[in-house]
Amino acid sequence: MSQRVLITAGASGIGRAMAEGFTAAGARVWVADSDAAALETCPEAWRKTTLDVRDEAGVAALFAEARRDWGGLDTVCANAGIAGPTAPVEEVALKDWRACLAVNLDGAFLTAKHAAPLLKAERRGAMVLTSSTAGQYGYPNRAPYAAAKWAVIGLMKTLAMELGPHGIRVNAICPGAVEGPRMEGVLAREAVAKGMTRDQVYGGYASGTAMGRFVEARDIAEMAVFLASDAARLVSGQVIAVDGFTVNPDPKL
Ligand code: NAD
Repeated sequence: MSQRVLITAGASGIGRAMAEGFTAAGARVWVADSDAAALETCPEAWRKTTLDVRDEAGVAALFAEARRDWGGLDTVCANAGIAGPTAPVEEVALKDWRACLAVNLDGAFLTAKHAAPLLKAERRGAMVLTSSTAGQYGYPNRAPYAAAKWAVIGLMKTLAMELGPHGIRVNAICPGAVEGPRMEGVLAREAVAKGMTRDQVYGGYASGTAMGRFVEARDIAEMAVFLASDAARLVSGQVIAVDGFTVNPDPKL
């Protein structure tokens, strides 16, 4: 794959796994992330930019730089997102609601807005938006996150229609619960909210899937590489869950 790929939130977690997956597939990789220290730990070969996806001027500058230094991009992964609060809706502060939407939704919008002209100039390309199974079901106690991830799917469907005539495909991946530090934080908060142990909450999530397990970041990365590839040349406007098949999003324990 001789592609130029830019990934937001690419310094750790799913974004980093995507960057590794694209690198293994032969692509040139550019990671943008708000955590400068995490970027430092990324491989030499990757181009790196410290970026907060909520900052429109920063996002615009990043894509201007990609146009100037790389002559454009072939694939853009709008992956940045934060978990937001875990609380019953009446306890969610407006500032926490807005903070969750700002990264998950405004960030995806700004990334797509400033990526679109570069991909249009190529008359081809792909965008991959990271939504969540929380964008396919309701998730009790996660109102801001679920609302943001459903909205990401609406954004993706619209972009797929707008950009399709320009040869650009746009899809959303919905990861299920991914093994790693972020999910450990969610498990810890839910354990407190539900008066359970971490292992009970983990078991609940896992048993809610047909495959009975959490997914790994590389499972998501491999789907992103596929969606960016010519093998997916007529795949657009799709919501693709990589979750081991969620059969019960809220298993009562
Ligand atoms: P993570 O918490 O591991 O964070 C990944 C990176 O995001 C970090 O390096 C962090 O610095 C960066 N980041 C955070 N806010 C940012 C901002 N404003 N601008 C730029 N970078 C920022 O997250 P993850 O688990 O890798 O999740 C990646 C995406 O996958 C998110 O959109 C998330 O909502 C989604 N997702 C994750 C899971 C899961 O279980 N981990 C499940 C479904 C969906």
